[in-house]
Amino acid sequence: MIILLKKNADPGQVENLKSLLRSRGVEPHESVGSLQTVIGCVGDVAHIDPGILEALDVVEQVQRVQEPYKAANRKFHPEDSAIDCGGVKIGAGGFGVIAGPCSVESEEQVVGIAKAVKAAGATLLRGGAFKPRTSPYAFQGLGKVGLDMLSTAKRETGLPIVTELMDFRDIELFNDVDVIQIGARNMQNFNLLKEVGAYTKKPILLKRGMSATLQELLMSAEYVMASGNPNVILCERGIRTFETALRNTLDLGVVTMLRRLSHLPIVIDPSHATGHAYMVDSVAVAATAIGADGLIIEVHNDPPHAKCDGAQSQTPEMFVRTMEKVRDVRALVEKWHERK
Ligand code: PEP
Ligand code: MN
Repeated sequence: MIILLKKNADPGQVENLKSLLRSRGVEPHESVGSLQTVIGCVGDVAHIDPGILEALDVVEQVQRVQEPYKAANRKFHPEDSAIDCGGVKIGAGGFGVIAGPCSVESEEQVVGIAKAVKAAGATLLRGGAFKPRTSPYAFQGLGKVGLDMLSTAKRETGLPIVTELMDFRDIELFNDVDVIQIGARNMQNFNLLKEVGAYTKKPILLKRGMSATLQELLMSAEYVMASGNPNVILCERGIRTFETALRNTLDLGVVTMLRRLSHLPIVIDPSHATGHAYMVDSVAVAATAIGADGLIIEVHNDPPHAKCDGAQSQTPEMFVRTMEKVRDVRALVEKWHERK
């Protein structure tokens, strides 16, 4: 249930309303927007009569909400959320480009790529130090050493870093990390989501599981948010279908649907979505045009020799061209917004 408050509602009466809700076993979550203030009710509201609430002076309207996610729900929070990612704003008009190798392989590699993607216009650096690999015999990432290399790249370029946390026992190694990625394979690792949500307010880049519905993705965001961290960025990276020509199947309509369902920013990953470096450019451009809040793109200095995901990694030269197009399209998207 959500309660829309009247404009200029008396703060004392709003407090009375909140106490009334608490006395009925419901936790009120107030969201103050520039146009509208709403109170989201978390708990069993079945026994509360909306008519009684609507009779109160401060209440404009009461709506019952069907969706099981509350904190991530746009109905509770009508305005887009902007997430501060180490000084880079993603969401609510802020567009972030996260670029870098699938995995950190050496200091020289990650620092070199960081400089190249920064020069091309990327605003954040990605790179996996802990890698979720299908095979236990495949390269598993450099772990703590890889995180140290990312820190060096951050110091040398000023780019905030995005890297994946697979196991909460490693969280103390993530002090210098700006955005914590929870990968597709861990999207429904509920203990990890709860632990990370309770431990930190750093932004969480939550990737959609390969067989997860949008509601399941939003419920996973809800786990992080309900545990205390409101700073979640949703990432669509394609899902598994019967199609095998592409690594995954990407429906860009998801951006428009998630925008309707949630206030959280939405980032598209054209690299994992397609699996082919030559496709990343056009899909990145299309994702920008449909209104995504950002992109995460794999870039490698020597894709044929990459330890992970070389086939889908752009070279720095390819990334430069993609960024030129993305900038052009972004300028158009901003113009369309002004016209609205
Ligand atoms: C990655 O970003 O390198 C990664 C492993 O992605 P995903 O979890 O989407 O497969
Ligand atoms: Mn990868």
